[in-house]
Amino acid sequence: MWGDCMEIGEVRCKGVLGKSGIGGMDYAVNPYLGCGHACAYCYARFMRRMGHPGELWGSFVDVKVNAVDVLRVEAAKKPRGRVMLSSVTDAYQPIERERRMTRRCLEVLLDEGYGVDVLTKSDLVLRDIDLFKRFDDVEVGLTVTSLDDGVRRAFEPGASPIPARLDALKKLSDEGIPTYAFLGPMLPYLSDERLDELLNILADRVGRLLVDRLNIKCGNMPDIRSVLDAHYPELRPMFEAALKEGSPYYSDLRTRVTRLCEDRAIPVRVVY
Ligand code: SF4
Repeated sequence: MWGDCMEIGEVRCKGVLGKSGIGGMDYAVNPYLGCGHACAYCYARFMRRMGHPGELWGSFVDVKVNAVDVLRVEAAKKPRGRVMLSSVTDAYQPIERERRMTRRCLEVLLDEGYGVDVLTKSDLVLRDIDLFKRFDDVEVGLTVTSLDDGVRRAFEPGASPIPARLDALKKLSDEGIPTYAFLGPMLPYLSDERLDELLNILADRVGRLLVDRLNIKCGNMPDIRSVLDAHYPELRPMFEAALKEGSPYYSDLRTRVTRLCEDRAIPVRVVY
């Protein structure tokens, strides 16, 4: 079964409050190296070069054991700003339940007066509602790539089931935490199935929506093809055609999702 062979390591880091290239974010904090969510399309797989060359993405995670101490020193010195958790790992992946690195990093950022933006595929994020409530500047996002949990099992085997993510958004929103949903990457002919229904559910539990396309990069195509061959073999030709330059698939999707969000008064930003 997936996850049975997860290799857990420990590493020490020199810095953890890194500059972020993501719009609206000043910094990113990644308390782990690697990610147990094991998404087939993951763009962060280039992180394998940090001690795990050639290993299966999703089969290892290293805990940055001194991250909290390093963050405390860096956070005290640097100009205050908004911190993304996380950019090349998922801060609430399964190991966080036991190691609590993310929670401890949040405590430091709170003490030092930073803002945070959390984006995760795990309902473990609910554990930290007490901390989120104490931030002046906070937003919590859940990624939802499909309403169909079969798509999640195929492409994001280690992440929380889709219903749990939708429930997490509801609970966060009910607790007064600003929330968003990240619909991305939109997987051709999979993510757009039951899109109306998904947006109906999200309408009263998110403040906004971000939508992104699937990008083929960092060597993710072989894993995507393996998933398609195993779970959706008949879809593979159409799926790959939609990714080609000149395909109208993503421009049509942009038009559709924009209209559906307008109908439901959901602020939306399509980022591709
Ligand atoms: S949750 Fe994010 S970082 Fe983790 S494997 Fe999936 S896409 Fe990559």
